[in-house]
Parts: sequence; structure tokens; C-alpha cells
Amino acid sequence: MRYSKLFSKTSKNAPHDTDSVNAKYLSQAGFVDQEMAGVYTWLPLGLRTLRKVEQIIREEMDALGAQEVFMPSLQPKEYWETTDRWEGVDILFKLESQTGKEYALGCTHEEVVTPLVQKFVESYKDLPFATYQINTKFRDELRAKSGVLRGREFRMKDMYSFHTTQESLTEFYNKTLEAYVKAYARCGLKVKVVQASGGIFTKNISHEFQALTDAGEDKLIACENCEFGQNEEVATYKAGDTCPKCNGSLAQMKGVEVGNIFDLGTKYTDAFKLDITNDAGEKQRVLMGCYGIGTSRLVGAIVETHHDDKGIVWPKSVAPFHVYLASLKSKDEAVQTRINTVSQEIYEALSDEGIEVLWDDRADASPGEKFANADLIGLPLRIVISEKTLKEDSVEWKGRADSEARLVKIGDVEDEVESFVEEK
Ligand code: ATP
Ligand code: MG
Repeated sequence: MRYSKLFSKTSKNAPHDTDSVNAKYLSQAGFVDQEMAGVYTWLPLGLRTLRKVEQIIREEMDALGAQEVFMPSLQPKEYWETTDRWEGVDILFKLESQTGKEYALGCTHEEVVTPLVQKFVESYKDLPFATYQINTKFRDELRAKSGVLRGREFRMKDMYSFHTTQESLTEFYNKTLEAYVKAYARCGLKVKVVQASGGIFTKNISHEFQALTDAGEDKLIACENCEFGQNEEVATYKAGDTCPKCNGSLAQMKGVEVGNIFDLGTKYTDAFKLDITNDAGEKQRVLMGCYGIGTSRLVGAIVETHHDDKGIVWPKSVAPFHVYLASLKSKDEAVQTRINTVSQEIYEALSDEGIEVLWDDRADASPGEKFANADLIGLPLRIVISEKTLKEDSVEWKGRADSEARLVKIGDVEDEVESFVEEK
């Protein structure tokens, strides 16, 4: 992609009213645009990153054997009355049709998936199975804040699993927990796995996945070494204690919940009377689990944990492009022509190899502007082509997190970029 053609530009100054790093950098670097509090447009750069995050999660859910669907956001009031949640859920957006009929705007999808599954599942032979979607959710949050961390309209992957036995549910639950940790790691995020508040007092287990950042709302007691963590309000440990898992040391930390998983038992299958015929030919209530990941919040959490004072420092796996290619200005017309030609050749050669290049081809921008732009957008690799580098028959190469740049011979660029992109 040529930067000159990108309609969503970066801006020199951050919006004045941002309350968090992700809100500041995602807006300033042209990844998102705030329509109103808690509601964002995902611009071309932001959408590429969001899609990469969602694709990683899709791959991990597919690996669990879960089947992807896409459920409606417009949901009939009756379903929400069936689960007794039409009145009880304060963040539920409600709509009235011109005919007087009422609807909920999906804040979650138990009310859709349970009656859906009821239409297809009859026998114990149909279970276990899991289905998921990646969709937009709507929540009437009183305080939308911290950029994309808490929105009123946001993206979520939600998965639902159905079982005849507790063993089967527990097995799938534990496999999902592992898949979550792997998905976050692939997105460049380390998480603490926290048994959710109330979980220890109730029969049904639940875990939260917390990314550590001061922008988060949740207070944790967590291990400095391994993934163990507890919510502070219910914690059986305190800062300074030894970790029960790895003997590391526990400390107070702040986190943002980037996902959670629940053993729902028969909460929703009771409401909808979702039964199957078991192997003894008797009717049996189905057990259910649900598993959420806030994908747009995850993008925000990555920015909160991957930035410096100049901008975002994207992990390779979710950067919108791999390479920021900057061709610099020269006063000498012949040199300028050569800069442009070499840039074009490198851009095409890399693109042909499937490497994603954002080419800052602007003729009027100064080197300083291009460097600042590269740092703000935060692509993993910056390649500069200038009069100076061409004298050495080279390009200037700098990783976003590197402090020093180095020269790479033009003939070696393609191979070196390929191995850079491939290496973890
Ligand atoms: P929280 O405790 O942060 O309010 P929640 O417990 O209500 O979230 P769920 O209903 O289980 O969350 O939703 C699943 C996931 O969706 C959460 O783990 C979180 O990552 C994400 N999420 C929830 N609410 C929002 C929101 N308002 N904006 C963005 N992401 C959200
Ligand atoms: Mg929560």
C-alpha cells in the first residue's frame, strides 16, 4: 500500500480528550476514529490489525474443533424473557419496531445460540460440540472509557459448547483455557489466568484472562513469574506471598480482562429446556459452557503493553503491515529518480513475496516527518532509501524496537526481510 493513497492519515497531535495510551495512539496513528463515546470506526490500518487478531483466534478455535457461525444482533424480546434477562441486564440495549414489537441488540448470544442448537441437536450422539462467532456486540455501558478497552459497540469472539457429561465439559473447558493462552501469546500478549470472583464459592467454575497494564480496571494479586493470578477482592493470597503454582513471588498488579470462560451448567438449557435423548433412551438436560474474547479490547490491550513515547510497537503477528518503506527526498533530480526506482523495485519484489509493505512515497514530506510517522504507526521494520544509502548501494534497516539502524545491501534486502518476517 502506498501511504500517499491511504485516506486515513496520521495526525501530528493526539486528540485532546483521550484518557489512555490506546485511545491516543490508535487515533493519532489513524487506526480508529471515534464516532462518539465508546463507538469507533476501524480505519484501514486498524481493520488490518483487528482482522489479524481475529484470524489468530479463529485458528485456535478451529483447532479445538469448534464450528464458526454468524448470529444476528437483532434478537427477539421473548428469548430474553425466557432467560429472565429482559429486565435484569442493565447494559442491554432495547429497540422498539414501528409495529410496537420489541428487540434486544445483542450484548451476548446465549439467548440466540441455545434455541438455535435446540433445532438441530436431538441425541447424545450429536454431542459434544462447540460453535463460535466473531461479531459486534452492543452494551449500554454507563461509562465508556479507555479507548477501545470499554466500548458501547465492540467486537467479540464468543464460543458455546454443549455436553452430556460434566467430564466432557471440563475436558473441553480445560482445552479452551490452553487455547486462549496460546492465542494471546500469538498476539504478543502474556496473560494471567485468574479464577473469577465468586468462582470458588459456586459450583460452576469460571476464569478470566488478564493482560497486565495500568490502563486496566481490575486489581489482581498475581505471580511475577508464572500465569497464576487472583482478583484482589476474593484473593486468598496477598502481595509478598509465595505463588502456589511455581514458588515465585506474588505482587499486586493491574489488568484488563481480555477474555473469560464459564462453566454455565444448565443455566440456559434449563430456561430453554434443551434436552437430548441419552444412551439409555431417557431425556437429559444438556450442559453448556461459554467462552468470550474481546477482540477489539485485545487490540487496545496490545497497544497499552507495546508502545514507547514515540508511538506503537506492534508485535509482528498483528502489525497492519510488516515493513515501513520510506523513500527520502533529494535535491538532485537524477538521484531522486534512482531513489524512486529502487524503492519501487523493492516494494514490488517484497509484495510479490507476500510481504506487506506500507510505502511512504510522499514527495513533499521531510525525512523527519517520515521517521516520526514510522515510529507512530509502529510497524516492526523500517527501511529507508536515500541518497546516502544509495552511495553504499544499500538501504537503511531498523527494527521498531532497535536503537540503532544498520545498512543492508540492496541485493540482500528481499532475503533478509523474508527471514525477519518469518522469525518469531
Ligand atoms: P468486564 O468485566 O470488563 O465488564 P465482562 O465480564 O462483562 O467484561 P463478558 O460479558 O464475559 O465480559 O464478555 C467477554 C469479553 O468481552 C470480556 O472478557 C472482554 O474482553 C470483552 N468486553 C466486555 N465488555 C466490553 C466492552 N464494553 N468493550 C470492549 N470489550 C468488552
Ligand atoms: Mg468481567
